[in-house]
Amino acid sequence: MRYSFTEHARRRFVQRSDKRFKHLDECNLENCPSCERIKKEIRVRLCDNRKSVNRDMASYLGNAKLSKAHLNDSNFMDYVYRRYGIDRKFDFMVSGHLVFVVVYGKNDKVVVTVMDLKRNSIW
Ligand SMILES: [Zn+2]
Repeated sequence: MRYSFTEHARRRFVQRSDKRFKHLDECNLENCPSCERIKKEIRVRLCDNRKSVNRDMASYLGNAKLSKAHLNDSNFMDYVYRRYGIDRKFDFMVSGHLVFVVVYGKNDKVVVTVMDLKRNSIW
């Protein structure tokens, strides 16, 4: 089955694969100018370099390892089921500090988000 990516997953991938954007995960302030600037930069990058983002994601996934540990983490799975559906089949693919959350569709596997193992607010 081939992979496809949601727009949300692309945004999170760009955000979490680039150290310069880590402020966005660490900051909880509303209306923060730094957060707004980063969000805009991510939007622009996705707009201008969509193909290279897709290529980068595919390349990370190619090197990723299937994680069983996530399936045994009940807090984590509670969150995932609530957010993406209790009746879905999931894979968690780990590549470096990134976790690709994969949901099985009819004909493809959909990456719905990209989490960061190193950060507190990974979800
Ligand atoms: Zn901020």
